Amino acid sequence: MSIDYKGKVAIVTGAGNGLGKSHAIALAARGAKVVVNDLGGSVDGSGGSISAAQEVVNHINAAGGEAIVNGANVTKEDEVAAMVKETMDKWGRVDILVNNAGILRDKTFHKMTLADFRTVIDVHLVGTAICTHAVWPIMREQTYGRIVCTSSPSGLHGIFGQANYGAAKAGMIGFMNALHLEGAKYGIKINLLSPSAKTRMTLDIGIPEPILDQMTPEAITAAMLFLVSEDAPSRAIVSCAAGGYARGYVVETDGIYLPPDDQTPEEIAARWDEISSTDNVHYYENSSGPSMNFMNKAKDFADKN
Ligand code: NAD
Repeated sequence: MSIDYKGKVAIVTGAGNGLGKSHAIALAARGAKVVVNDLGGSVDGSGGSISAAQEVVNHINAAGGEAIVNGANVTKEDEVAAMVKETMDKWGRVDILVNNAGILRDKTFHKMTLADFRTVIDVHLVGTAICTHAVWPIMREQTYGRIVCTSSPSGLHGIFGQANYGAAKAGMIGFMNALHLEGAKYGIKINLLSPSAKTRMTLDIGIPEPILDQMTPEAITAAMLFLVSEDAPSRAIVSCAAGGYARGYVVETDGIYLPPDDQTPEEIAARWDEISSTDNVHYYENSSGPSMNFMNKAKDFADKN
């Protein structure tokens, strides 16, 4: 089974460098018309130049693909609206959105300014919402859309010094969960990538060179390509690095039931190991899952007593 994107239009944010560049080139090589968006800043978000994104466009067009450059800042609603309008004027649809633009402002929390906290949330989480909001009505109208948001092991599992970044990346899980439910009847699928790869973002964090060399952006792009394909899943979190691929889930333990007289912190402390046991974990389709589990436990207790 070969996967292609002929006739599809894709927007990739932050596509001047690293993962976004690899995503844009691969989508174009497989037939998509691609908007290569990037404001061209440094890793911490300062500065700006369209030249890196333009080089990606030149590369795609020289290889026989179709791409246009766009310098919108994903945190600016008017610039994103203009990018989507330009895309619609040129190609008449938007099938794929890869929310990839990102920056770092790492600091331990006691040294982190709230300005740096807000800025990172703004680029990753609010930027993802702004770009998605701009294409959402188009995808609903088309009854077709594929959206990937770029989360991180930092959001799923935690990294020292990344309270801002981790919060933004974890926020994407809730964002995806809601849009998965809201988009289902319009043929819109939304998924998350949780990558680790050799890009300018990871050059200085102490990963040994031989390992870093295996962590290619192209390995991440393979998962992205699957997640925006016709037969993509929805609400999947795909963790990937160096050729390893796994699926992430938010799960809950089975837990216990405590009758009213036992609903005390002391009883919870006494039963903490049972509450925490991962022997029987649940993955729920939506937020009513835990309540149903607890109602069933309460009913079982009532039936037995
Ligand atoms: P990168 O710095 O090479 O690329 C990020 C790009 O986003 C840059 O070209 C930058 O100019 C652009 N950008 C930043 N702010 C923007 C804005 N407001 N509007 C438009 N473009 C903007 O980094 P990368 O490693 O390729 O990161 C891509 C995505 O993957 C990011 O969201 C990052 O957080 C995420 N990620 C990367 C890794 C990794 O190991 N490299 C791990 C987890 C998550």
